[in-house]
Amino acid sequence: MIDPAVLRATMADLGQPAYRATQVYEALTRGLATEFAAIGVLPPALRTVLAERLQPLSLTPVETRAAAAGDARKTLFETPDGRAVEAVLMIYRQRATVCVSSQVGCSVGCAFCASGAHGLGRSLSAEEMVDQVLHFARELRDVGRRVTNVVFMGMGEPFLNYDETLGACRLLNDPAGFGLGARGVSISTAGVVPALRRFTDEESQINLAVSLHAATDALRDRLVPLNRRYPLAMLLAACADYVARRRRKLFFEYVVLPGVNDGDDQARALAELLGRPLYHLNLIAYNDTGGEFARPGARELAALRDRLVAAGVACTVRRSPGGEIEAACGQLAALRPAGPGR
Ligand code: SAH
Ligand code: SF4
Repeated sequence: MIDPAVLRATMADLGQPAYRATQVYEALTRGLATEFAAIGVLPPALRTVLAERLQPLSLTPVETRAAAAGDARKTLFETPDGRAVEAVLMIYRQRATVCVSSQVGCSVGCAFCASGAHGLGRSLSAEEMVDQVLHFARELRDVGRRVTNVVFMGMGEPFLNYDETLGACRLLNDPAGFGLGARGVSISTAGVVPALRRFTDEESQINLAVSLHAATDALRDRLVPLNRRYPLAMLLAACADYVARRRRKLFFEYVVLPGVNDGDDQARALAELLGRPLYHLNLIAYNDTGGEFARPGARELAALRDRLVAAGVACTVRRSPGGEIEAACGQLAALRPAGPGR
């Protein structure tokens, strides 16, 4: 994927008409082309010149791991500056969802997440995020399917890379390009309040999820260090404004850590915070990242869900495929294939 502004500038520079930029953009997005040589509408000489000047892919796929059940695939990509990022494809009967990384690593450093374990490498560009989706769109095309959903729930905190993430959304949604419906896109944030407020002002159909993980400041300070900057009262005030202004459902995510955040005190506090219209809580079983936490059983998850539902919270348990290939939530760490094992 190439920034459309770069395409336009290149065509102008080459003395080419502006519609050539549009043709290349359409071929790369809607047509899923990976090289200029394959863009048949261009004169052969122009294909050659473009290939000398521009790189149609911003990421190189290095390795793919597929789950035995065939319901998840994880691909490791390399950036031109030698960084590694991962994205995941989750295949369901009706949907095919790509989980996109927005940064190399993450600066937030949540206690249970592998992505933040080594801090932030750098933020990804919009094109680098779009290329993760286009990669899986090509794989799906080969089996007669399409990407129906994109979630910014891979490595990184999308709201600490706001402009590029929203830029990626716009590119993915562009009806003249890839053409993914905005309702099929979800951004997940650990609670960067200024960005959440900015997002509230956007005219968009993109879904929003807020990673909560604790219902008291004392516990959330420990699990999600960003809470020290944007504590719960501030975060939930911004959430209430979002729902009031946009009149859209707001999703909350809660990684269940047995003995840490699933006790009576947290359940009671959660019900108080989230028992209101248009709020929906997704419970996620903790996926092992080699840390101090245990994984909850199905029965524990259901018990917490039932307790919350009885207290008036709209709440479901979310399935997270890909655990066996370390592609599930929180397990993306982008260790190089030759790097140390985890
Ligand atoms: N930085 C953003 C988006 C990426 S994380 C955020 O935190 O929302 C996407 C989701 O995966 C978040 O809800 C996150 O808390 C969850 N997650 C992180 N580590 C996990 C783990 N070990 N097990 C299960 N879910 C995890
Ligand atoms: Fe970063 Fe999200 Fe992982 Fe927290 S859960 S470290 S915000 S990627």
